[in-house]
Amino acid sequence: MEKTLKKGLALDIDETLSFTIGLLVEKLMEGAGNPENLTAYEIARKYKHTDNISYWQNEAAKKIITTFISSDEFYKDLPLIENAKEMVAKINKIIPIVAYITVRSEKVIESTKFWLKKHNFPEAELITKPSSIPVSEGNKWKAGVLEYLYPQVVGIVDDNPNLTNFLSKDYKGTVFLYDHNEAKRNDIKVIPCEKWEDVAEAVRKSMINNIW
Ligand SMILES: [Mg+2]
Repeated sequence: MEKTLKKGLALDIDETLSFTIGLLVEKLMEGAGNPENLTAYEIARKYKHTDNISYWQNEAAKKIITTFISSDEFYKDLPLIENAKEMVAKINKIIPIVAYITVRSEKVIESTKFWLKKHNFPEAELITKPSSIPVSEGNKWKAGVLEYLYPQVVGIVDDNPNLTNFLSKDYKGTVFLYDHNEAKRNDIKVIPCEKWEDVAEAVRKSMINNIW
């Protein structure tokens, strides 16, 4: 990873641009049971991350998750998050999108690029988690990447509040915390944004206030 990126903003992909958990939950319901008897959409919205679903923290479920998240085919057909595409295009005119930083493995680079291109997301560097780093340390890895790339990368739009736990108090970038209405940190810049429209507005304000 080189520090040669032009200055701009990074984007997370899963649950920020793509409704990955929606499709993953369907696979889990088929293979690991559905004790609450909810629809895939209801489960996905209730828990947001499979880590939060207690009845799927077993070996059978983990095997299903591992199989799908390392499969190129799985990533090619993911549904979009509402308004992500439109608002990213708008944000890209305010500040360029310079990187996608994802805990997806390097094995699925091809399908990830295919999907981003299919939906006309801006061209930018794709940074995936090295396979030497376990999935359980994904947020820690991503926080390290953000700290390393600042100030070329001034922040990220990401849906995972655990990411903010791993950023140091000295981090000067901004996390636009998509799909959340509160931030766990107040010593660094974390801006909760419930909708993609809120992200676009928060980015616009950050540029006006020249915070980077
Ligand atoms: Mg995510």
